Amino acid sequence: MATLRFSFGTMGSGKSTLALQIHHNLSVRERRGLLLTKLDRDGTQVTSRLGVSAPAVEVSPDVDVFELVSVRAPLDFVVCDEVQFYTPTQCDQLARVVDELEVDVYAFGLITDFRGLLFEGTKRMLEVADERVEMQVEARCWCGARATHNARVVNGVLVYEGETVVVGDTGDVATPLFGDVVRYELLCRRHYVNGDMGS
Ligand SMILES: [Zn+2]
Repeated sequence: MATLRFSFGTMGSGKSTLALQIHHNLSVRERRGLLLTKLDRDGTQVTSRLGVSAPAVEVSPDVDVFELVSVRAPLDFVVCDEVQFYTPTQCDQLARVVDELEVDVYAFGLITDFRGLLFEGTKRMLEVADERVEMQVEARCWCGARATHNARVVNGVLVYEGETVVVGDTGDVATPLFGDVVRYELLCRRHYVNGDMGS
C-alpha cells in the first residue's frame, strides 16, 4: 500500500535537506522518482540551506498534480517540497496519486505563516495525509526556547499582516519586496507575540 506522508516544521527545521536526502536515498536504489517544488528559492530545483540541491519540477498554481505524475508513470515515489504553497485541490490530487497510482508521496511543508496561521496547503495536508510527521530538528529562538514562529521582519520591524507568499530567507539574507528589506526570524511564541527580537 502506498502512503502519503506529510512532514512539517518551521523554517530552519531541515525539511528541504530531508526532502533531498529521501529523494537521493530512494534514487540510488533504482526506484523511479520525481522531485517537485513550488516557489523555491532557486526556481526549478530544491535547494537546502546546507548547500545541496537537485533538479525539480515546478508546480504552478493551475497544474493538476495527478496529471503531472501520471504522465511520468511508472513511478515509485514522489518527493514534494514547499507543499504549504499547494492549493487544497492540489493536495487532494497528491492523495489520488497515492490511492490510484500506488505511488508513495513524501511531502514537506512549513507549518505556519508569519501571522502564526496554518498555510492553506499545510492545513489540507494535515487533513488528508496517512502519516503526519513533525520535523525533529528544532530551530531555536534567540532566547534558547524552541522556535515555533516564522516572524516576518520588514525594514527591521516585525509585522503581523501582509501578503502570505513572500519568499525570503532566514538569517542575514535579505530579499527586496517593493523596495522593502524583508527577512524572516525564528522566534518562540512569547517573543513573537511581544515582537522582541532580542536586540
Ligand atoms: Zn524566545
